[in-house]
Amino acid sequence: MKEKVDIKTFRTGIILAYLFYGAFGFIDYMLMPVHFKTGFYIRFLMVYPVITAGFIISNFRNSEKYLKLLALLLLITGQAGILIMISVSSAEEPAYYHYYVGLILMILACEFIFRLNLLTTLLYFLLSEFAYIFVAFYFQRIAENTDFYKDIHWFWGNLMFMTSAGIISIMGTGRIQKNAKEIREKAQVLISAKLEAEEANKIKSAFLHNISHEIRTPLNGIIGYSRLIADTADVENDKLQTYCEIVNYSSSQLIDIVDSIIYMSEIETGKSELNIEPVCLISLSAELKKHFKFPTEHKSLILNINTNLNAKNQMINTDEQRLKIVLNDLVGNAVKFTEKGSITLNIDYNDSEYVISVSDTGIGIEQKYFYKIFEPFYQVESGYERSYRGNGLGLAVAKSFTELLGGKITIESTPGKGSVFTLKLPDLK
Ligand code: ADP
Repeated sequence: MKEKVDIKTFRTGIILAYLFYGAFGFIDYMLMPVHFKTGFYIRFLMVYPVITAGFIISNFRNSEKYLKLLALLLLITGQAGILIMISVSSAEEPAYYHYYVGLILMILACEFIFRLNLLTTLLYFLLSEFAYIFVAFYFQRIAENTDFYKDIHWFWGNLMFMTSAGIISIMGTGRIQKNAKEIREKAQVLISAKLEAEEANKIKSAFLHNISHEIRTPLNGIIGYSRLIADTADVENDKLQTYCEIVNYSSSQLIDIVDSIIYMSEIETGKSELNIEPVCLISLSAELKKHFKFPTEHKSLILNINTNLNAKNQMINTDEQRLKIVLNDLVGNAVKFTEKGSITLNIDYNDSEYVISVSDTGIGIEQKYFYKIFEPFYQVESGYERSYRGNGLGLAVAKSFTELLGGKITIESTPGKGSVFTLKLPDLK
């Protein structure tokens, strides 16, 4: 008995039991005046006291916990009464079998109130009706001296059984509707909690977006002035030039972090509108080479750029800013996670789509992380002992932006040998 019995259903069941038991008392008397006394005792000394006790107990506080037990007790008592009646009467009058079988079925039906689900109730209703009618026909034939069709008591018994089973099945449906209503209400609560959480997330993203913009402004000042120092300082002063480059590169790294927070918050708030324009892939790759000149040289890495494009397909219609962000991230990662060897940016045009890959000869990634690294904040190395810096947002942004541009990003990698990130991008004409 998994389901909880509610007190209303229990009391309705008891009132029904009173009514039907009373009605059957009358039929008992009409059918078997000889056994009237036995029936009377069973009813008033056994069944009704138990039913009444159940009704009284159901008024106590905390009684809901014991309702199932009580319901079971009532059913057992009711059925025991019927069994006694059957044993005293059927020996002489086999024709009464059908009547008692019907009664047992009806009382059994009450049990379904307490463990209902729509399908079992309906199935039970149909099966019990068939069983009852079958038993009635069968025993009626045995009792040859009874006129089956004219037996008005049989008719009433049958009708009452069917009505009770019907009521029970309707109550069951009501119960299910009540359950469905409860489920709907719970779902409503969950939905509004979800909406609230989404709203809070949007507020958080908007806050991050604003604060990141605030950080970006002074950073731009640092970058601008460090460039000015480098430009105006003595060209021969190698040390000063190197210091300026470091300030510059570190600041642009900081800008990248702040930017990825801004992009992530844009993605989360759904504020990523595309600005499609023709973009020259040759110029873009040259820009990338310039941007990563310092870190690659600093780590003695070779940065190769292969553009296998003819004059016709050098221009791609896409959102330039977004594409730059994605490529910056992929090349930036390649530089970060490679200690020796090379990084290669390959740009091809195949089957009416652009295939841009960034490969490195770095530390590589185990296959089990292929899916994870595209999740926000996920890093293969985590905790304070990380040997590589970063915020874990780059690939999540790269994936979202690539998809926003109608493309796909995939990864192939072998630990210790290197990785290849491939973008497939359509021309958004
Ligand atoms: P971040 O680089 O800031 O940690 P990313 O989202 O760009 O965040 O990358 C997530 C993780 O994926 C990195 O922390 C790293 O573990 C792994 N990863 C990304 N690119 C490479 C690469 N080229 N080689 C090895 N590991 C990589």
